[in-house]
Amino acid sequence: MYNIVGAGLAGSMLAKSFDNHDIEYRIFEAQLPFAASKISENLFSDTWLKDVSYIKDSLDWIHDNYKVEDRCFFTYQNLDEQKKKLKYLYHLPIPEVLKTGCIAEEVLEATKEGVRTAQNFYKGMNIICAGLQAKKLFKLPHLDALTGHGFFMRESKLRLSGVLGGRSGRYENYINTFRPYTHEKIMRWHDGYIWYGDSTAIKHNNYIKKQNYYISESKKRLKKLGITEPDHIVFGARPMNIKNKRGGMLVKINSNNIILNGGWKDGLVIYPYLISQIYKWLKK
Ligand SMILES: Cc1cc2nc3c(=O)[nH]c(=O)nc-3n(C[C@H](O)[C@H](O)[C@H](O)COP(=O)(O)OP(=O)(O)OC[C@H]3O[C@@H](n4cnc5c(N)ncnc54)[C@H](O)[C@@H]3O)c2cc1C
Repeated sequence: MYNIVGAGLAGSMLAKSFDNHDIEYRIFEAQLPFAASKISENLFSDTWLKDVSYIKDSLDWIHDNYKVEDRCFFTYQNLDEQKKKLKYLYHLPIPEVLKTGCIAEEVLEATKEGVRTAQNFYKGMNIICAGLQAKKLFKLPHLDALTGHGFFMRESKLRLSGVLGGRSGRYENYINTFRPYTHEKIMRWHDGYIWYGDSTAIKHNNYIKKQNYYISESKKRLKKLGITEPDHIVFGARPMNIKNKRGGMLVKINSNNIILNGGWKDGLVIYPYLISQIYKWLKK
């Protein structure tokens, strides 16, 4: 029996792969602060990743296992310009991928026999897919995160105020890549929300020190779009292996614990690749 700790993109994709191979597992998800996947924009593109060796296999795996959407974004060079051009990106809707029905207990310790929560001990081999929080379970000096926030706004409210309405009367996805908006995106979310994601991809500890300032700057940018009060603000720490920003983190800590993590530069397409690599370590 395997214990998967964390049901973000890493843990949920691993669970999907185990389902495909009829491998038995439990999966734990404690909804901890700064979990990244539930607010991940989940955009990817084969052109962003054209020099990555595993890209074809990863994209095939994602398309074979989930319903991927094709999203069209407007992009601008600066705010005064007319709509500049269209960018076509893939979007993996979060409700498609995140595993539900997990054991809602926080894993407090991962041992050579299994995992311990406040309620129970679960025997098994552990695969830690805990994002930045993996640092609470093991010493992982190379694990860091780029942290930021985004705003959710009710689509119905925005329609009433008339902001962001395209000529068609529908909301348009757009992406700004000029400074200071290097990652600014507005996109349709799920459940009737519009997402505003800002360019606050800052090392986690630095973000924590100046969080209020970064949020106030984002609010100013949002105000330029005519939105004064978002419905709620969310935060996420995207895990990163500082030794290998592209390659993610796949580490065998001991005979019973594997860390599966990271994926900053290559984003979510790293996970199918890391999962394909993990099988060589699993007990038969
Ligand atoms: C705003 C934002 C936008 C992004 N946009 C994109 C994008 O467009 N494209 C892209 O490719 N990537 C994007 N990313 C990056 C992507 O979201 C991350 O690479 C990915 O979500 C990391 O997944 P993970 O499973 O490793 O970590 P997480 O998503 O952080 O998952 C770890 C999970 O484990 C749980 N957990 C942790 N410790 C324990 C414990 N001890 N016990 C039980 N549960 C535990 C946490 O609650 C959490 O849900 C974005 C990230 C953010 C924050």
